[in-house]
Amino acid sequence: MSDEARLVLERCDALAAVSSSPTGVERVYLSPEHARVNAMAGEWMRRAGMTTWQDAAGNQRGRYEGTEPGLPALLLGSHLDTVPDAGRYDGILGVLLGIALVARLEASGTRLPFAIEVLAFGDEEGTRFGTALLGSRAVAGTWLPEWWSLADASGTTLHEAFVAFGLDPDRVGDAAYEPADVIGYLETHIEQGPYLEEADLALAVVSSIAGARRFELTLTGVAGHAGGVPFHRRHDALAGASEIVLAVERLAREADCIATVGRLQAFPGGVNVIPGLVEFSLDLRGEHDDRRDEVWAGIQAVAADVGERRGLTLAVDETHRAPAVVASPRLRGFVREGIAATGDADPMVLFSKAGHDAMAVAELTEWAMLFVRCGNGGISHHPDEIVTIDDVAVALDAFEAAVHAVAAAHPVAARASA
Ligand SMILES: [Zn+2]
Repeated sequence: MSDEARLVLERCDALAAVSSSPTGVERVYLSPEHARVNAMAGEWMRRAGMTTWQDAAGNQRGRYEGTEPGLPALLLGSHLDTVPDAGRYDGILGVLLGIALVARLEASGTRLPFAIEVLAFGDEEGTRFGTALLGSRAVAGTWLPEWWSLADASGTTLHEAFVAFGLDPDRVGDAAYEPADVIGYLETHIEQGPYLEEADLALAVVSSIAGARRFELTLTGVAGHAGGVPFHRRHDALAGASEIVLAVERLAREADCIATVGRLQAFPGGVNVIPGLVEFSLDLRGEHDDRRDEVWAGIQAVAADVGERRGLTLAVDETHRAPAVVASPRLRGFVREGIAATGDADPMVLFSKAGHDAMAVAELTEWAMLFVRCGNGGISHHPDEIVTIDDVAVALDAFEAAVHAVAAAHPVAARASA
């Protein structure tokens, strides 16, 4: 058991060595490092008994046939690209666990009533072109033509990078699946948060991937002399914004949502001037959109009250809005069964505060995810990102049991045993 987990961790290390940065791990879409890790993952897929190819968007894929050739596939995936100065496991662990799972099936001569395809997405993080999920969006068939003109920091467009990587931009549509060819998508990913570690648990079922709303807020009062204007005549935009920021924290906590004011600037910004204007950002996320939107309504009510009392006006610009993406209850149940098979009869349920490839694949097919405990307080997108060998071993067992649960409920299997 732990030999398999050890191999997974060794491969995480081997991939981490393929980096464009001399001081840390960085691997971006359509780079020479991307080509190298695709070749490595492809080799491991073939050793696990898969046929392999690089798809029309640069994703590395492997296929393990079911009881007969050509059956629709259960997709197991995650990504091989990274953020700058990344850790070793974000995305990578999910790809390698998919390969390890197929190696197990092959070793025991097991064929399922569907094929398995392991997907190693080339872009999830969006590090190079600023738009995330390019690999999984191609697979889901939701690639947008306007992306071709996106440019990286050196001015190379996505279109040019495709050609330089040996891909044909006109054929990117070939990366998309026909919905009839897939039966679902499962992804294993590190948690990227501290909840499992705090609960002393290895694995969790993911309920949804939070949808974020982002706002730019401008609060306007009246600037004035810090010595000359008495309190009862002030319209201090920063004192008002401070009340709103604390309300953001309180309301989000009460509703089990997560909210952050990450940037705040007071104008004119003089030590002896009452702030007449404050600009600040708000990032708001929740397991369910309605709960998240209720928090936003509460924040607006507080802001209205603050404005009334202090004589301030608030302007709101919503800059981003994405819906929460909810896991399929059916597949989520199989993941739960998979974790239960490893001895945790009542697995923890978490919603993901970060985005994942499953968000894009959700446009194609139903999905579910399994989270693996992240050590060091859940730190991620950081070199200190860590998982234990024991957790990797139990994650592989749970992942395999989840796939067998999918197989047991599959119509073909049910017919065959009827
Ligand atoms: Zn990731």
